[in-house]
Amino acid sequence: MDDKPAIEGGTPVRKERLLFHRPVLGPEEEQAVLETMRSGWITTGRNCAELERRVAAMSGAAHGVAVTSGTAALHVALLCLDLKPGDEVITTAITFAATANMIEAAGARPVFIDVRLSDLNLDPELIAAALTARTRAIMPVHMTGIACDLDPITELARRRGLKVIEDAAHALGTFYKGRPVGSISELTCLSFYATKNVTTGEGGMLVTNDSATAERARRLRWHGIDKEAMGRYGASGFRHTDVMEIGFKYNLSDVLAAIGLVQLDKFPAYQERRKRIAARYDEAFQEEDGLRLLSVPAYCESAYHLYAVMVELERLRVDRDHILNALQQEGIGVGVHFLSLPEQTYYRGKYGYRPGSLPHAERASRSLISLPLNPWLADSDVDDVIAAVKKVLRYYRK
Ligand SMILES: *Cc1c(COP(=O)(O)O)cnc(C)c1O
Repeated sequence: MDDKPAIEGGTPVRKERLLFHRPVLGPEEEQAVLETMRSGWITTGRNCAELERRVAAMSGAAHGVAVTSGTAALHVALLCLDLKPGDEVITTAITFAATANMIEAAGARPVFIDVRLSDLNLDPELIAAALTARTRAIMPVHMTGIACDLDPITELARRRGLKVIEDAAHALGTFYKGRPVGSISELTCLSFYATKNVTTGEGGMLVTNDSATAERARRLRWHGIDKEAMGRYGASGFRHTDVMEIGFKYNLSDVLAAIGLVQLDKFPAYQERRKRIAARYDEAFQEEDGLRLLSVPAYCESAYHLYAVMVELERLRVDRDHILNALQQEGIGVGVHFLSLPEQTYYRGKYGYRPGSLPHAERASRSLISLPLNPWLADSDVDDVIAAVKKVLRYYRK
């Protein structure tokens, strides 16, 4: 085998690029979509109700409210808190833009705290120091599918009268101390985006154990309209609707929910495959000089949404982006989840950022690489990823 990376003129590990992600949809999803299209009902209806029932059950929650995206779920969840300007929501610096963007959209201020390098999740020990008189909620994100340490977060929130909203976009199928994510906090937000472990193309869901919160969320996803309200005032026959507050147009289509229902049938087998692939990567990279792996804490069963590693820059002659490009040239699709959010233009401009203030997030932001982790990967694909990573690191190690 050629030892020189393709980016340096060598021969690539693969001629045809292995995609970082491709959704796996089959004839079963096609059939379900077709049936819904022909049924005469394509907006929110029976399929959404069924998806809500099944996802809530998987999450150990009493209620599910299907929406158009994980972002919409976060928006609605935050609106349920009735935040006021100046209110603060504590969240993590390493997350997708949606988490903090929706805190802004709900009129509050995101307060970013640092992560643990062992699992990329917000460090619960740093929350107390970030609390102020304006703190209203904590929004943990279960990065890559690894659960945040929820007990100390829940306990602190209880003592200080704060709400907890979980961004579980990566965490359908994650367990914390034997309990499914979704069964623990007031509100948990899921995403069915194209890359997520269960997809509807675009979609999301709020799950909660509180029936009043579920009712409010249902109203907020459809213009703040209460479908029953006018009917309650005694009129028999035609039932009018009533606008109770300003809501949004976030209800999910039954055509998309149909895809999700089939995906749920396939979910257990897909999760098994994800777990096996992650285990193979772990084994191959455990001793790799220049690479730092995440570790799944004993309290958690991961949903294995992403396989993220950090390159140890002090061991290499090049930066992370060069390694990304080198892997792409080897024919391996890669990603970055995520760049530190408080350092990005909008947040830096609005709140300022003092370099060195979130050291772990800065480090993760500059060293993270996500490797392909999909149920459709063949063992030979996984071998190619491992070979490419080892080849590139070997060449650039100091
Ligand atoms: C994907 C994702 C979201 C948003 O989900 P969409 O369905 O794309 O709106 C939110 N948070 C995190 C951490 C995500 O990865």
